[in-house]
Amino acid sequence: MGTKSREVIFGGRHRLWKSRVESTRQEARAAIRKAHRALAEEWSVGMEGFGGPAQPSPTIAQCLSGGLGWLEVECMRCHTRVSLSLDAIRRPRDTPVWKLEAGLRCRSCATLRYKPPVRLVKLTDSQELNPYPWDRPGNER
Ligand SMILES: [Zn+2]
Repeated sequence: MGTKSREVIFGGRHRLWKSRVESTRQEARAAIRKAHRALAEEWSVGMEGFGGPAQPSPTIAQCLSGGLGWLEVECMRCHTRVSLSLDAIRRPRDTPVWKLEAGLRCRSCATLRYKPPVRLVKLTDSQELNPYPWDRPGNER
């Protein structure tokens, strides 16, 4: 009794507190990822099933955080569908996904004067389709 120094007592409590803070942080991060995934999935289901609304949409960062890192898009002219990696798109991560639509074009249909519209189809957690032959936003020449 009384032989323990304050350092031992409070040091132990401090370590316990630190590990609690750390696990709370991990839980918070997991909760955020889960919320981002729910947000991205809800948007994706709306786009695929009902064709929108495209706005508001999650951001690139939210999709990546939620584990839905692939955007499936369709050329409105030839109906080719491709999966684009959101991770590889050179846009600020806080860009809403719907804003990418304007920068996308189908390489087999696009000419210098004509850029057929594209449609955002859905978000996926893995690459479902070949990314070629589409240009990504940020790759415009
Ligand atoms: Zn096309």
